[in-house]
Amino acid sequence: MKIIRLFLILFLFPVLACCQKTPILFQHVRVFDGVQVTPSADVLIENGVIKEIGPTVAPGNAKIVDGTGKTLLPGLIDAHVHVHGAETLEQALTFGVTTEFDMMMPPRLEYQLKSEENDHMASFLSAGNPATVPGGHGTEYGFVIPTLTKPSEAESFVDARLREGSDYIKIMYTAGVSFGRIQRPSISKETMAAVIAAAHARHRMAVVHIGSASGARDAIEAGADGLAHIFHDASSPRDFGQFVAAHHAFVIPTLSVLHAVCGPESAGVRLVSDPNLSPYLSRENISRLQETFPSARSGMISCRGGTQAVAQLEATGVPIVAGTDAPNPGTTYGASLHGELQLYVEAGLTPIQALVAATSAPAAAFHIPDRGRIAPGLRADLLLVNGHPDEDILATRNIVAVYKAGHEVDRRRNSR
Ligand SMILES: [Zn+2]
Repeated sequence: MKIIRLFLILFLFPVLACCQKTPILFQHVRVFDGVQVTPSADVLIENGVIKEIGPTVAPGNAKIVDGTGKTLLPGLIDAHVHVHGAETLEQALTFGVTTEFDMMMPPRLEYQLKSEENDHMASFLSAGNPATVPGGHGTEYGFVIPTLTKPSEAESFVDARLREGSDYIKIMYTAGVSFGRIQRPSISKETMAAVIAAAHARHRMAVVHIGSASGARDAIEAGADGLAHIFHDASSPRDFGQFVAAHHAFVIPTLSVLHAVCGPESAGVRLVSDPNLSPYLSRENISRLQETFPSARSGMISCRGGTQAVAQLEATGVPIVAGTDAPNPGTTYGASLHGELQLYVEAGLTPIQALVAATSAPAAAFHIPDRGRIAPGLRADLLLVNGHPDEDILATRNIVAVYKAGHEVDRRRNSR
């Protein structure tokens, strides 16, 4: 017995002591809880979770943070990225993005990064390999991915993705999309519907990459839970918002990457000159933010339809779920989500609606109830900023501190 006790004291206690996080009390802070604003409250976090909100009494060892003039928000969620390595998850976290939804990555990397996750990296969920046809979108990146061509293959295809560790199923549907002379083969609408049905039968979600308004309609008719992009048509069909609302789907607009497709310049350009973002951007990040796709120079593709659609979707009550498609041209991890929110406000959303799109809306759409809001019992993924982002969306960039599961992130690790 004595030996066991000694073992506990010598070995277990130091392990616990090392990993206990100091409780933190935010005092007199403006709170955006994922849905609405409370002008002044106290928020206590303890053991990695949000303990209490309101005038609250702190434990003796709590660190006190004066929240005067500051706003506390849930950690931001970027619902469309492609995770490339641990450093890309660290970069996201530096900018207050505490969770990312990956929309295509190699399953082996997904497995490795999920097992290595720590408090210096954003958390992520992943689609792993997408559903596409031979030669279709997703096959052009230099590594071999599985493909399917007919509805009868859908069930075994989805089973194989779930065995690989996919959290949800991503489908590439590019019917009706061409960039000049480039037109890729696409999965058929029937096969897409079969893949969605197979995912649903296994209690998994299915989200669809589309590029045109007609493709968006097909995907939603086929039963998609959400669209992984908005389209790049010159205008949005007048009934588009009502149509999506009637089918209870959500949309991840990814206006950040859309602007790099339609030009004339990427939306990333204005992030580079923002003094709140630039100290944390590498030279590589900056050149990526300034890049566009070749189509941007042709002037043939318009961002107007996509921007119109965002306003229609909000007006008809469709959940808008913020996503960037980083690290595609014109984007980078973390910083681009702040640009995406600015684009939503420019499309007609209020700053609060934009903040909902990056917090409670993605958590609800992807069924992760432990985050996306500030409420007792939820994971203490938090972003503390100067000013009132619910009135001026640019204030999300004026970051004071980022917390992942109650741990304050060392943002200097990523400053240049
Ligand atoms: Zn993507």
